Amino acid sequence: MITKLFGFNGGVKPATHKDDSARAPIIRAPLPARLIVPLRHNTRAIARPIVEIGQHVLKGERIGGAEGVLGTACHAPTSGTVVDIAEHTMPHPSGLPTLCVYIEPDGEDRWIERKPFDYANCGCGDRQAVLDYLRDSGIVGMGGAAFPSHIKVGTKRVAHTLVLNGAECEPWITSDDRLMRERADSILRGAEILSDLLGAQRILVGIEDNKPEAIAAMREAAQKLPVAEVIVVPTLYPAGGEKQLIRVLTGIEIPHGKLGTEFGVQCFNVGTAEAVHRAFDLGEPLLSRVVTLTGNVERPGNWEVLVGTPIENLLELVGPRADTDRYILGGPMMGFALPDLSVPVVKGTNCVIAASQALFPYPPPEQPCIRCGACAEACPADLQPFELYWYARSKNFGKAQEYHLFDCIECGCCAYVCPSNIPLVDYYRFAKSEIWAREREHDAADAARERFEFRNYRQEREKAEKAARLAAKAAETKAKLAARGEGETAKAEDDPKKALIAAALARAKAQKESVAPKNTDDLPPEVQAEIAEIDARRKPLTGEEVAAQEAAEPSAREAGEAAAHARDEDTKKALITAAIERAKEQKAKQAERRETAERDDK
Ligand code: SF4
Ligand code: SF4
Repeated sequence: MITKLFGFNGGVKPATHKDDSARAPIIRAPLPARLIVPLRHNTRAIARPIVEIGQHVLKGERIGGAEGVLGTACHAPTSGTVVDIAEHTMPHPSGLPTLCVYIEPDGEDRWIERKPFDYANCGCGDRQAVLDYLRDSGIVGMGGAAFPSHIKVGTKRVAHTLVLNGAECEPWITSDDRLMRERADSILRGAEILSDLLGAQRILVGIEDNKPEAIAAMREAAQKLPVAEVIVVPTLYPAGGEKQLIRVLTGIEIPHGKLGTEFGVQCFNVGTAEAVHRAFDLGEPLLSRVVTLTGNVERPGNWEVLVGTPIENLLELVGPRADTDRYILGGPMMGFALPDLSVPVVKGTNCVIAASQALFPYPPPEQPCIRCGACAEACPADLQPFELYWYARSKNFGKAQEYHLFDCIECGCCAYVCPSNIPLVDYYRFAKSEIWAREREHDAADAARERFEFRNYRQEREKAEKAARLAAKAAETKAKLAARGEGETAKAEDDPKKALIAAALARAKAQKESVAPKNTDDLPPEVQAEIAEIDARRKPLTGEEVAAQEAAEPSAREAGEAAAHARDEDTKKALITAAIERAKEQKAKQAERRETAERDDK
């Protein structure tokens, strides 16, 4: 059947350089002395370590548990011992470190028990179990972005079409080409599982016309799967971009800011489909991938490499030539120069290119933009690259976003055609990373504010709860007192604290009154009578008794008071007289001293 193809705007046709590495079959790379398995698949998909240093692990054993919504599990690529859990440089343009599990292989390559997973009859009737299985098998997109597959499959929208991406449009890379030639059945079996999970009615496999062997192998395998159709697309970079391939195969134009799934189409890389088949049918988590090693080397080819293998170990396999001056991870259009050769292969690593000045000369110096518009013509995402460049360069990130900066797939077509040699993609990457950093700061400030507001709310709530508790207790106490006949005390004291204190005092008083001295119980009658007489004397008089006493003895009391008053008056008079006497005596002495002094002067 001849399928109608659609075109996409823009695109470029760089030299492909695929033949050298595509010739040789896939070879299994040897075990390195040490594997460095990152617990992060892309910038957002992370895992937390679930093993300890010194622990022995088997091949396929989980060493990292999925963290967060985008998290995906990590596994030991071979059997051996965990010798460290520490940060190591990521194979990422930022060159930033990430947490990795270091494993020293024991050489036995011993597997965990592998069990296939029957997704159609898993017994639980729960779609979530299937998604969890995908997540725990560590399946992510193997086209380069490493986006978690359980998220793509788990979308609530129905996908009527599954697009299988075998375009592999970047120059030099041939890993998908070799995979399709050698494992076409496995790829299509994985595609069948994915289409079942998505509910898709058809599978469209897009392959660029520069891979005739892969096309033939996939077509042969597709004969066993009636819903699958292998479609040959023209070689035009970036036909392998998700939106571009969907456009070419289905004619559906995905607008800015939208995803294929919103239009009933899901796209997976052929490598991802093969990994899905291995996970469901063989019970094998994603532990390795095919990597193209090419460029300025003696033996270019494709190797099946364990995730975590340091790139420097792979270079020994291909023999880089003496004039190699750097290594590019990925293709020459979207790849980046490796910051460090000890970085490990990850699930999205598809190619390592040895670069030399002869093969990849450094670009001439950047010139001012002449607004020729060539970049806009080449842009497959229908953007205005020179506008993005101006706004990114002047750090006007708001405007850059207005011009759909985040729709840029960093394909590099604009930079490829720019006559002023402006490294446009570098400017876009800078703008994106700045915007992400600001968003992170903004999120952190929001989180701090939310924490503060929650703390205030919590304190208010605790205060209100305490008041409610006290009120309830007071009510309870009042009720108890009322039941015991102490209602008056409780009534008088509405304040719960005061009510409690008054109640306690009342109880103490009642207790005191009820307790009689016990050590007088066995005394003889005459002693008890004497004590009673003393008690009677000691007992305070009642008001009536006092009044009677006062009425009976007024004169004695008054006489006592008068005598006391007289005593006070006499004492006062005596003191005054003594003071007058002392003053007189002093005056006389002064007069005598004066006379004596006058006599002496004469
Ligand atoms: S291609 Fe280069 S020089 Fe021409 S408009 Fe775009 S950025 Fe400017
Ligand atoms: S890198 Fe971005 S702006 Fe440049 S051509 Fe590609 S999609 Fe367009």
